[in-house]
Amino acid sequence: MVLRRANRGSNKNQKPSSYESRKLKTWMLAEFGDGLTVLCHGTCGRHLFYSEITKDRFPKPGRKGGRYVKGNVRPMCMSCNASEGARSAAEERRKHQERLARRRAVYAERKRHGLQDRPDSGPRLVEPAA
Ligand SMILES: [Zn+2]
Repeated sequence: MVLRRANRGSNKNQKPSSYESRKLKTWMLAEFGDGLTVLCHGTCGRHLFYSEITKDRFPKPGRKGGRYVKGNVRPMCMSCNASEGARSAAEERRKHQERLARRRAVYAERKRHGLQDRPDSGPRLVEPAA
């Protein structure tokens, strides 16, 4: 049996071909804008030309399996798109910290009951990088 890790938290999936990418940008210009410029769907409020558009997967983001297809992309400038990614990365880090805290609680409980872990078993206590 082959076990695959879920591709969670990664943004490197489902990149469209350059042909598909051009088609999607043209579609976004027509769908969300006037065919020449389109408003950034981030927070900057800028009008973007074709060359400034980056594709933001919405409503289903990439980390939830959203794909680059019509209906799941909206136009965003590069900096808004990048800061969005940073936010979700921060969210991932926070979840990771919570998981570690739960593991530590389990470990402390075991210790309290005098259950000694073998060297290579049980939750490993790794101090997270700051
Ligand atoms: Zn923007």
